[in-house]
Amino acid sequence: MALMAPKIPLLSLAPEELPGEGFRKRQIADWLYRKGARAWEAMTSLPKTLRAELAEQYRIAEFSSVEAYPSQDGSVKYLYTLLDGQKTEAVYMPYPNRKTLCISSMVGCPAGCTFCATGRMGFGRNLSVAEILDQVLYAAHHQGHSPREVRNIVLMGMGEPLLNTENVLAAIRRMLHPQGLAMSPRRITLSTVGIPRGIYRLADSGLGIRLALSLHAPDDETRQQIIPTAHRYRIAEIMEAVRYYYAKTRRRVTLEYTLLRGLNDHEWQAKALAQQFQGISVHINLIPWNPWPGAPHQGTPRAGILRFKAVLEAHGLPTSVRLSRGRDVGAACGQLALQQPV
Ligand code: SAH
Ligand code: SF4
Repeated sequence: MALMAPKIPLLSLAPEELPGEGFRKRQIADWLYRKGARAWEAMTSLPKTLRAELAEQYRIAEFSSVEAYPSQDGSVKYLYTLLDGQKTEAVYMPYPNRKTLCISSMVGCPAGCTFCATGRMGFGRNLSVAEILDQVLYAAHHQGHSPREVRNIVLMGMGEPLLNTENVLAAIRRMLHPQGLAMSPRRITLSTVGIPRGIYRLADSGLGIRLALSLHAPDDETRQQIIPTAHRYRIAEIMEAVRYYYAKTRRRVTLEYTLLRGLNDHEWQAKALAQQFQGISVHINLIPWNPWPGAPHQGTPRAGILRFKAVLEAHGLPTSVRLSRGRDVGAACGQLALQQPV
């Protein structure tokens, strides 16, 4: 008996690379990205024999199973089991008029940030283009709406997107493609721990999406304490890349700053941060630290967060405090990889 060739992941193909002639390609893209079909049998406008043929060659779903954990605040954590048995996660956040999905770029993460549960887990592997996209398609299907109704996508789940740049950029292209998810680039945000070559590449890609930089300290010494791999790039080098990004895209970059008690929440650090970024068009997003069992940190109390914010604002830096959703189901920033709620 002849061995069956492995199936091609359909979502790895750009809309123009889908099987068939022009009309057929558009029909399949429409089923996938607008109608949210997750199986060939569901594409009822395709001839039955063709559906059977295509099903032999191409697979659509990238997960063998998915568990959904609804939070009391309305967000839902999805735990996806990939076809090789590894797991990754996404978080669905239904704000009024703005369905947002936070997706992963890896299984685990090699950056090893001490405050992040995914960092503690270590590196599993990069996700493929199809695995990145299917997180969106599955979540929309589970929520009972078209994939195109997902208005915002943030790459802030598991993993460092700019250490999986090739696949991440290809997935973003399918999100922006008019026959793909047809999203506006302003509604996609990539969050990075600060990999300069990746930031340059993203700037030169011309995709025009938003960039968020996880800075967490105004000085390299503190930063390296909490991001052990940060010794590879100095803040000055990363900020040069960020300035290049701004010059190319004209999109104001967000600096993410997770506040850790006694480590990066001192007043002198708020002042140093403000001084360092005078005259640069950035927005600071302070993130209250989300706890996980065994973490070597404590979060800065609310009053300390507000004091830190006040110093930044007094120096003219626009600053907001992020409300993390889904803490009760381990879905908040940095809690992914926890299989148990905190
Ligand atoms: N690797 C990328 C994207 C994923 S992490 C990055 O680091 O930017 C997304 C955001 O969650 C980062 O800003 C990160 O610093 C933050 N984060 C990680 N663990 C956290 C925790 N326990 N509490 C609050 N924010 C956390
Ligand atoms: Fe990786 Fe981001 Fe977590 Fe750091 S914060 S370990 S870069 S996922």
